[in-house]
Amino acid sequence: MRKYVIMGVQGSGKGTQAKMLREAYDLVHISVGDIFRWHVRQHTKLGAQVKRIMAAGELVGDDLVEEVVRRRMGIHDWNYGFIIDGFPRNGRQTEFFMESYDIDAVVHLELPDDEVRRRVLSRRLCSSCGMDYNLIADRPEVEGRCDICGGELITRADDTPEALESRLSDYHEKTRPVLELFRRKEVVHDVDGRASVEEVQSAIRKTLGLPSPRG
Ligand SMILES: [Zn+2]
Repeated sequence: MRKYVIMGVQGSGKGTQAKMLREAYDLVHISVGDIFRWHVRQHTKLGAQVKRIMAAGELVGDDLVEEVVRRRMGIHDWNYGFIIDGFPRNGRQTEFFMESYDIDAVVHLELPDDEVRRRVLSRRLCSSCGMDYNLIADRPEVEGRCDICGGELITRADDTPEALESRLSDYHEKTRPVLELFRRKEVVHDVDGRASVEEVQSAIRKTLGLPSPRG
């Protein structure tokens, strides 16, 4: 049983890395962001709540995040373990989490703020189907057009330099106490997030002592 947390600023590729670990080691990937997006798409009551909060340019509150995680963890569908992404977000949640789940390791993807800016500000989104693009890594074939549906590519409303600065400082402020608590338990593995997706993945596997994936 492997119980991991993955942490990293937006643009650090933590979602991609978590999914690669999920595929290779049969882990359940619990992404708070994905759970919220699912609720928004399915038009659930929670989705409507989340949509309202985001439309106001605010972050989803800790209580709501905590409830979603608790409900998701309560399904107990992991046979080989899980990797959780987007939680815990503050000291109190970290303490609760460590007591409840006995985490094996925290993967901390490190990315300098300058690199975050470069990555995040090059993101685009299809206005019709919602597919994500990145003008550095996944350029569309036709400039400004979605490869899948031909829709117009737009910048996310919250991907302005000002909004990004505020999210960055918010991230650092909130992450510091979480990392400190995890470090006290000596479970944190710092991984350089500047390398390529494959290099980061193999660095993670190495530091966690994971065997080569099954055939
Ligand atoms: Zn599209």
